[in-house]
Amino acid sequence: MKLLTVVAAWASIAAGSALQGSCSSCDIDLKALGKSLSSTAKVYCPGTSGFKNVTTRWSVLEEPKVNVVVVPGTENDVVETVKYANKKNVPFLTYNGVHGALVSLGKMDHGVGISLSQLRSVKIAEDGQTATLGGGVMSKQVTDGLWAAGKQTVTGTCECVSYLGPALGGGHGWLQGHHGLVADQFVSMNVVLADGTLTTVDANSELWWAMKGAGHNFGIVTSVTIKIFDIEHSDWAIETITFSGDKVEAIYQAANDYLIKNGTQSADIINWSYWMNNAEADPNNPVIVFYIIQEGVKAVDSIYTKPFHDIGPISIDPQSGTYKDLAAWTSIALDSPPCQNMGFANPRFPIYLEQYNVPAQKKAWDIYAPAIRGSSAFNNSIFMFEGYSAGGVHAIPADSTAFAFRSENLLAAPMINYSPTGEALEKKAADLGNQLRNILHEATGHDDFRAYINYAYGTETSEQIYGSEQWRQQRLRDLKNKYDPEGKLSFYAPIE
Ligand SMILES: Cc1cc2nc3c(=O)[nH]c(=O)nc-3n(C[C@H](O)[C@H](O)[C@H](O)COP(=O)(O)OP(=O)(O)OC[C@H]3O[C@@H](n4cnc5c(N)ncnc54)[C@H](O)[C@@H]3O)c2cc1C
Repeated sequence: MKLLTVVAAWASIAAGSALQGSCSSCDIDLKALGKSLSSTAKVYCPGTSGFKNVTTRWSVLEEPKVNVVVVPGTENDVVETVKYANKKNVPFLTYNGVHGALVSLGKMDHGVGISLSQLRSVKIAEDGQTATLGGGVMSKQVTDGLWAAGKQTVTGTCECVSYLGPALGGGHGWLQGHHGLVADQFVSMNVVLADGTLTTVDANSELWWAMKGAGHNFGIVTSVTIKIFDIEHSDWAIETITFSGDKVEAIYQAANDYLIKNGTQSADIINWSYWMNNAEADPNNPVIVFYIIQEGVKAVDSIYTKPFHDIGPISIDPQSGTYKDLAAWTSIALDSPPCQNMGFANPRFPIYLEQYNVPAQKKAWDIYAPAIRGSSAFNNSIFMFEGYSAGGVHAIPADSTAFAFRSENLLAAPMINYSPTGEALEKKAADLGNQLRNILHEATGHDDFRAYINYAYGTETSEQIYGSEQWRQQRLRDLKNKYDPEGKLSFYAPIE
C-alpha cells in the first residue's frame, strides 16, 4: 500500500451521487464506495475544506493520515465503509472529536477515515430513565440536550471532546462521584465490529466488560443507550485560588487533609489544579491555579476553602452559576484555548494517584517550573491534577469492567505543549514529561505506574493502561484475538 499523496480531486461529495475516480494514489475507488453508501453520507478527499474540518486534530504529534474520509449519514454507512476498507485491504480509523492524541495513532499512515460527525443525535426515552446517543455526539450536546429536559448524566468535562472517545476508556466527569465513570452509565450499544458486522452489545454480551475501558479496540460504536438522572441541584459554585510556587507543599498537604481525605472526598466536591504560566498573576514564574468546585451551593463552603485561604494565595476568585458553567470556569469550554486546534503538539504523561505525596509534588514543581518559565518552548504547558470525587467509581466492582484503576483518587498529567520543530524538541518534551511522571510514580510505592488510557502518551505498556493483573491482560488478549484478530482497531491504545 502506498503512502498518502495529497490530491485535491474532490470537493465535498454526497456519496449517493455518482462518484468516480480516486482521491489519491491509494487506489480507493470512490465509485464503488459511493454506490454502497446512503444519500446522506459524504466523502471528502485531502485538500478540501470538508476533509480539513473533520480531520484537523488537537495535537499534531504523530497524527494519523488517511487518503479519504467517509462521513456516514447512517449506521449502515459505517458497516459498508468498514466492509469496503476490508475488501480493499486498507486500514480504517474512527474520527470523532479529534482530541485523541496517543502517538500510536501515527501508525495509521494511509487508508480510510470514518468521521462520525453526522451521527450526533440525543433522544431521551419516554420513561426518562435512559437516552440514546448517536456515536458521534459531543459531550456538550449530551449535557445541553439532557439539561433542557431536566436531566443529566456523567460525560467528559471538556465541551469539544466527543461523548464516546472518553467513555470507551472509562471516562472521567464532574458527576462521577455520584454515578461512577462515563462507561458505567452504558445500558447497551450498537457496534460495528472489525469485520463490518453490526451487533448490539449489552450486559449479556461477551464484549460488555471490554467496552467499558478498552472499547476503542473492539468496534465502532454507532449509538449507545445510557442511564440518565433527574437534575437534583442546578446550583454550582467554584473558587479559583491562585498561588505562587513556593506554596506547593502547603497546598497539596491541605488538599490531602481537607478535600481528598484518603479517597472519601465528598460527592459534591471536585478539586483540580493547573501548574501554568499566567502573566497576570506572576509575570516571571508559573503559578498554581487551584479550583475547588461544589455542587448545590451558591458559594463554596468555607470548610473547604479556608485552609487554602490561610496559605496566602495571590488571588481568590469565587463564581457561581450552574453545571453548564463548569467548562468555562475551568477553561475547557468550546471557546477556551484547549478547544482550538492550533497546530501544537500536546503530549501528556498521565499517572493515577491515591493521594498527593507532598515531597514528590515539590520535587516535580522544582523541575517543571524552570522548564516552562519565560521564553521556554514549553511555556504553554499545563501540569494537570484532577481530583474528581471518586465514591461512585469505587462503588463499582473493579473486576466488572476493563477500566482497571478504580482504587485511585487523582489523575495527574503533565501536558507538554510546543510548536513542533523537529526530533530534538520532541525528545526534550518526552524526557521532561517522563521525568515528571517518574517522580510521582516513585512516590506511589507501586511497582508500575497506572495511566489513564485517554491521556496516555501512546508508548505505555498494556499493563500500564489496562492494569497489571494477569487475568485482565489474558481476558483482553482473548477477546482481541476473537473479535479483531488482525488488529484493525489497534491504532488507539492497542491491546498487545
Ligand atoms: C481538552 C481535553 C479535555 C479532555 N477532557 C476529558 C474529560 O473530561 N474526561 C475524560 O475522560 N477524558 C478527557 N479527555 C481525553 C479524551 O478522553 C481523549 O482525548 C479522547 O480520545 C477524545 O475522544 P475524541 O472523540 O474527541 O477524539 P478522536 O481522536 O476522534 O477519538 C479518539 C479515538 O477514540 C476512538 N473512538 C472515538 N469515537 C468512537 C466511537 N464512536 N466508536 C469507537 N471508537 C471511537 C477511536 O479509536 C479514536 O481514534 C480530554 C482531552 C482533551 C484534549
